[in-house]
Order: sequence, then C-alpha cells, then structure tokens
Amino acid sequence: MQFIDLQAQYQELKSNIDRRIQTVLNHGKYILGPEVQELEEALNQYVNVEHTITCANGTDALQLALMTMDIGPGDIVFCPTFTFFASAEVISLVGATPVFVDVDSQTFNLCPEALEKSIVNVLTSSKLKPKAIISVDLFGLPADYPKLKKIAKQYDLKIIEDSAQGFGGKIDGQLAGSFGDIATTSFFPAKPLGCYGDGGAVFTNNEDYANILKSLRVHGKGQDKYDNIRIGLNSRLDTIQAAVLLEKLKVFPAELARKEAIANQYSTLFGDAMVTPYIPKGYQSAWAQFTVKTTQRDKFIKKLNLAGIPAMIYYQTCMHQQQAFDNKVVINNAFPVAELLAQQVMSLPMHAYLKDQDIENIAEILISS
Ligand SMILES: *Cc1c(COP(=O)(O)O)cnc(C)c1O
Repeated sequence: MQFIDLQAQYQELKSNIDRRIQTVLNHGKYILGPEVQELEEALNQYVNVEHTITCANGTDALQLALMTMDIGPGDIVFCPTFTFFASAEVISLVGATPVFVDVDSQTFNLCPEALEKSIVNVLTSSKLKPKAIISVDLFGLPADYPKLKKIAKQYDLKIIEDSAQGFGGKIDGQLAGSFGDIATTSFFPAKPLGCYGDGGAVFTNNEDYANILKSLRVHGKGQDKYDNIRIGLNSRLDTIQAAVLLEKLKVFPAELARKEAIANQYSTLFGDAMVTPYIPKGYQSAWAQFTVKTTQRDKFIKKLNLAGIPAMIYYQTCMHQQQAFDNKVVINNAFPVAELLAQQVMSLPMHAYLKDQDIENIAEILISS
C-alpha cells in the first residue's frame, strides 16, 4: 500500500496526461508556454481569485510573496511553530525575523489567542517591526481566517496564506488560496494538487502585487526580459508541469469528495481508539494528510509497518526546536500545544485511490491493539 498513490492516479488519467504532454513536446514552448497561461486562468476560476502567478515551487511562492511585500531586515513575520520547515525558512531567507507562535490543540493551526499575545509582546519589547503573518493551512484544513483577519487588521499586518497543503480546502464555501492578502501553494507531487516535479503558485486579488510577482519570477523584469527593474528570482512553472496540472485539476473535485468519504470512514471505524481530525463547522479539509493524535504512536506505527502499511510523522520537530533558527529568533514564546503534538501525531495513508478494504484493514490493525 502507498502512503499517497501517484501511480494509481496516473493509470486512471494516463491517456489525457500523455496527450497533454505530447502537445507540449510538439509545440516546444517549454518555458511560459500556452499551457502555463491556460492553467493560471483555470486556477483563477477554481480558487476564485483575480490573479494566479505560477512559479517553480511552493517555497519560492512564499519567498516571492515576502519580496512582493518588501519584507526584509528589521521586519518581523509571525508563523506557527508546528509546520513544514519551508513556511518559516523563507522568513529568515529574506533577512526578516521569524516569531513562532503556538497552535490550536484541535485544528493544529495557528492559535489566534497565542498570536495576539505574541504581537503585543513584540510591540512592547522589540524594536523590530511586525509586518506579516504566515498562516499555514495545515494538513488540508484552512486556518481560522475570520479571527486571523481581525487581528491582522487591528495590528496592521498582512496575511500570507501558506496553502501548500490546503489547496481545495474551504470555509463556508470559500476556497483556500483566497484568504490571504497573498496566498501560496505547492504542486510538489504529494500535495493535494501535485504535478510530476516541482511547481508552485501565488494567488492574489491585488493587481499591484500581481504585477510585481510577474516581474519577480523572471529576474525582476521590466517591460521586456532584458530590462531589469528589480532583483528577482528565476522561478517559473515548466510548461510540461502546467499541462499535467490542467488534466489533474479536472478530476480534483471528485478526488476531494472521495478523500472526504475516506476521512469519514476512518473516523467512524477508529471510534475512541485515537483522536481523529477535528473539522470546525463550515470548514472543509483538502485532506493533504489524515493525522491522528495518540499516546501509543510507536506501537501503532510498528504494527502498521509489519503489515506493509506506511505511516508518517508530520512533524516531529517544531520550528522553535530547529537548529537552523538558533540565534535567529528574538522572542521566545511558550509552545505547550505544539510540543505535545510533535510527540503524539501520526499520519495515515490518504489518497483518492485508497480502497474501502485498505481502510478496513488499517482500522482493524489499529483497533486490535
Ligand atoms: C510543501 C510545503 C511547502 C513548500 O513547497 P515546495 O513546493 O516543496 O517548495 C511550504 N509550506 C508547507 C506547509 C508545505 O507543506
């Protein structure tokens, strides 16, 4: 059994994907070819935003967002401590200072109360200037944007929504990728919408941001490619990857519906044997991961592995515990929730091609413990 079965998906979509790739090979426009623009328009429609700017990967997408907002040395960016390294890495990469914040014990997303405390703490004790919040839609669940937006407004902060895992998630019907002043996603193969290599995108409704982003992804270009008006990156999505994504986007809603059914089946079968994911009212997860909490993690993983079933730990190390951030952090918050999660979380196989029988087998192994 695969943790995320990309082969099963490819077998389903093979003829369409192969045809799309062949079209690119025939026209030969490998960089910013017509499929890239077609994908950006399709993503505008799907996410319901005005501008999609595709780029090379989800980490660049975050860096591009920070560069667009002119965030750098002397600035503070708040970020959950329980996330993938890239969400925090980019803050230091552009020379700004990360301030890590604890997460909510039920949703695992940025805790609004802890965030506000941390902002007040920074304002009273640091000369650095708070500029933005990188909110992460962890494991597929959008963060608490109704509350985060209020806080951002009150303290004049921008929101960068890291939706690398949240693409396809919703709050009251509104899609992830549309909540931040700028939102980002990743098309890394194992993400909810993945291509066959690296890829990413930035979403915004702000036209000025969109123009800067389009310049930044091509070496800070001006009117033409050899007229450079700012320092940028080389960060484009390959045309072949856009072609793959166009085909995958067509089946994406059906895949989400299947994953929703799998999540419900898991939760029903597990009963009280572990703490299953909490989805607040009005929210929908993109089910990037199905992550449970348990005090018997080691035992569970051993039993699953013995049966040939993969289980993963996302994440064992919080950002405030990463050596890379030693001496780069100015405010030390407390992180009791995140530290406990790091000890108790376990992610189970989750993809749209999982069979009912697989789910029953996993539940049987875990419950018979
Ligand atoms: C995967 C991921 C990223 C980075 O995306 P890449 O395409 O791998 O660079 C950023 N943030 C989160 C939360 C992720 O899961």
